[in-house]
Formats: sequence, structure tokens, C-alpha cells
Amino acid sequence: MKRLVSIIILVLVVCTIVISAEKGENENPLKHDGFKVHDMDQPKPTIIRAGATDDAPPSDAIVLFDGKDMSKWNQQSEKAKKAKKTWRIVNGAMQPTKGAGTLQTNQPFGSMQLHIEWRTPERVVGTGQGRGNSGVFMMGHYELQVLDCWQKKAGDDYDNPTYADGQAGSVYGQKPPLVNACRSHHEWQSYDVIFHRPIFNKDGSVKKKATITVIQNGVLIQDHWEILGNTNHKRRAAYSKGHADKLPITLQDHGNPTEFRNIWVRELKD
Ligand code: MG
Repeated sequence: MKRLVSIIILVLVVCTIVISAEKGENENPLKHDGFKVHDMDQPKPTIIRAGATDDAPPSDAIVLFDGKDMSKWNQQSEKAKKAKKTWRIVNGAMQPTKGAGTLQTNQPFGSMQLHIEWRTPERVVGTGQGRGNSGVFMMGHYELQVLDCWQKKAGDDYDNPTYADGQAGSVYGQKPPLVNACRSHHEWQSYDVIFHRPIFNKDGSVKKKATITVIQNGVLIQDHWEILGNTNHKRRAAYSKGHADKLPITLQDHGNPTEFRNIWVRELKD
């Protein structure tokens, strides 16, 4: 008899737990932001309009280059401009003349979602870091490498061998990409970047490192990597003693006519 009573009690307890769970009574009634689970009073996300395709700018994006207009950019070197070594538009893409130097956005940006497309030159010349080299610098300090790193087939050596932390998709000198997702020479490729700026203490020391997530051609290649500091060559990366909350995005001229197109950005909260 005692055993039967115990079984009945156990069944009742289990049924109560199941019914309560279905009603949501066992869930934490408060979320961290102060709203109940499924609270209809919680403010709804802002409505934006996505682009017609995943690579098209959504309605809240700032279009930095649409294939025709370079007015959102400026070339830094006056000397290069005087020498007519300029960034120019060729067949709907921005391309540096050798010696043009860095191109930067007029508008500064901090944390952001960035879409940018690039392709290496049609004529395959140079080796290692000398082939199709460019780079996208977040805040002008943190380089996401652009390079010709096409691999003919899985298992082969790269067609253009270089050090892992300097190949396309690397945070240059710091972190190789998770995989080599590069397309062939002169094929258009895309980077979709989620970047969060570094936050500095008043004395210029780092309070919170910058982070970067990158999807190349639809493939995750950097996964919320904590950037170690400013991009350096053959030197360990280190943060400068603080900098502005927003700085221009810059494109590198590394002596190769690597092209860029369809560039848009969405500013993110820190
Ligand atoms: Mg570079």
C-alpha cells in the first residue's frame, strides 16, 4: 500500500512539473534587462529594410562605394596626388595606381558591420606578400589582410605560399584565418566584418580589446577574435596609448592594383 501511495505521489509531482513548464511558470520571470519572458511590452527592434540580396546594402547602411562615386573617400598623400598617383575607378571598382598610398573614408567609424568586396589583379605577378596585397584597416589601425591566396585544390600547397598570419583573411601578423576560403585569381570575393572598437581607460591603457568576426565568401574565417593591438610588420602587435572612439576605415596601397567595390557599413553600439 505504502509503495502504491509513493508511486501516485511521484506521478502527481511529475505531472505538476510538466504542466508548470508548459505554462512557463518554472522559467525565470525576469530577464536581465528587466522584462518578463515573452513580455509584449518589451520594445520591438527597429524596422529596417534588408537589401534585395545579402550583399546589397540594407536601408540603414552608409554606402561608402557604389561603383560610381568615390566622394566618401580621400587619398592621404598630397605628394602622390601631385604625381598623379591616385586611386581611381576602373570598371566600377576602386583601384590604386602604384604609389598612391592609403585611401581613407572621410567619415570616421568605430564599432561596425562592414561589407566590402575585393579581387586581386588580373595579371598574376609577384610572390608571397607581393601578390595582390592590400588590406582593410579598421579604424586605420587593425588590418584585415587582402592577398592572392588561391589554392588549386584541397591538400595542395597554396599557389602563393606565405606565412599563415599574413594570408588573406588574417588579422595581419596576429591571427591566421580559420580556413582558407579564397577564390581564384581576379575573382570577386567578399568580407563581411563585425568589428567592435577597443575601449581605453583615461590613462590610455586598454580597458577592453577590439574584437573582429569575419565571414569571407560566406565562410566564417575569424570568430570574435580579440585583436592584440595595432598592425605591425615583424613586430609584436600593441595598442597605441588610446585613440579616438571613431577613426576612418583605410585601404592599403601595397603596390598591387587590387580592386574594391560594393562597400557599405552599419554603425554598431559599443
Ligand atoms: Mg596588406
